[in-house]
Amino acid sequence: MISVKEARAFILSHFAPLEVERVDLLDALDRVLAEDIVSPINVPPHNNSAMDGYAVRAEDIQGASKTSPVRLKVIADLGAGYLPSVRVEPGTAIRIMTGAVAPPGADTVVRFEDTSEAVAEKASGRGSGTVEILTAPERGSNVRLAGEDIRANQMILGRGVTLRPSEIGLLASVGAGKVAVHRRPRVAILATGDELVPIDAPLTEGKIRNSNEYSNAAAVIKAGGIPIRLGIARDNIEDLTRKIREGVEAGADLLITSAGVSVGDYDIVKDVLNAEGAMHFWQVNMKPGKPLAFGMVGKTPLLGLPGNPVSAIVSFETFARPAILTMLGKTKFARPCVEAVLLEGSENTAGRLNFIRVHVSRNSGGEYTARTTGEQGSGILTSIARANGLLEMPPEVKEYHVGDRVKITMLDYPEES
Ligand code: AMP
Ligand code: MG
Repeated sequence: MISVKEARAFILSHFAPLEVERVDLLDALDRVLAEDIVSPINVPPHNNSAMDGYAVRAEDIQGASKTSPVRLKVIADLGAGYLPSVRVEPGTAIRIMTGAVAPPGADTVVRFEDTSEAVAEKASGRGSGTVEILTAPERGSNVRLAGEDIRANQMILGRGVTLRPSEIGLLASVGAGKVAVHRRPRVAILATGDELVPIDAPLTEGKIRNSNEYSNAAAVIKAGGIPIRLGIARDNIEDLTRKIREGVEAGADLLITSAGVSVGDYDIVKDVLNAEGAMHFWQVNMKPGKPLAFGMVGKTPLLGLPGNPVSAIVSFETFARPAILTMLGKTKFARPCVEAVLLEGSENTAGRLNFIRVHVSRNSGGEYTARTTGEQGSGILTSIARANGLLEMPPEVKEYHVGDRVKITMLDYPEES
């Protein structure tokens, strides 16, 4: 039986970042930048005030205090977005708002709170002709310098960076309205099985709902891909062949099937895949999710996930998600881990890498604790739904005990309080 690591490495060797496209800045969120971005401008573009207050000459206000204030003549009012029309000459000040261009002559801003125009009497100084300065901040105080954040011609982001809201804001600050990112992968999802009934059709005797299509499509979206839903293929060669070809023709970058890769009589996915392309079938040394198929249908990679709903989800997480991230240009796949204290023991009787569904929470002492989410059968969807993490129990580890400190892979990182 091949290991999870071997299967994943083999699968990932068939994927590379997809072509680059230029998209509107907001469409680049969570995607990987495919160009280096050099700022054409200084940010901020001009020296400006960091406070609402008075632009002054530091020289003029030396030694100012509450007991011996310095009185200056107010010669103008300056809001953000406007250019100063006068110069701050000795003995004068300009009333200035946060973000307004620092006027020539001034080197320092004294905030309102440190002048006769205190916050309580907001705007009282407006047009009053003079202002009293009550402290003497250091020269340059409350003035933001042009280029102090970003200098013109500075590289602000390099290719390979995943764009979060902060990077999106940074790009906007230098006027990058469109950026080059890797295209999102189109992932075709195909469920297989004679027992499957669509979500909106009557559930007749002997049938079950096709839930894998939904968990897989949702996982594709979450990973950053675009799902193409192909519906259900029946357990016969013709139907399955037709649906797989449909996925290839739809321009899928990856085809994901579920079920029909095991050893049962109607597990024909591998027969069809063998006929259509070069396929690999494995028993991967993991639980849940032992059966797995992978191969190429023409130029389209196909990943055949097991049918049991939890196996499908865990196998998607283990193999399909890293493939999608690779196509997006990402190079890191590991979810965050926490170290948690087990509140329940677990056994590994299968001798495979056992993914145990757990729920992690934080106790009052700030320590992470984990308990299993109940019945661990590969068809028990409620127990993966209750889980926010997976405890990986290596094949050689037979038992974990209450109180053991273990590493848990977080599927959703817990929000705190
Ligand atoms: P198979 O791999 O075809 O033997 O299927 C394994 C188990 O998964 C069976 O109990 C199937 O009924 C179930 N199964 C297969 N496909 C789906 C699906 N799309 N949604 C929910 N359960 C499924
Ligand atoms: Mg089946």
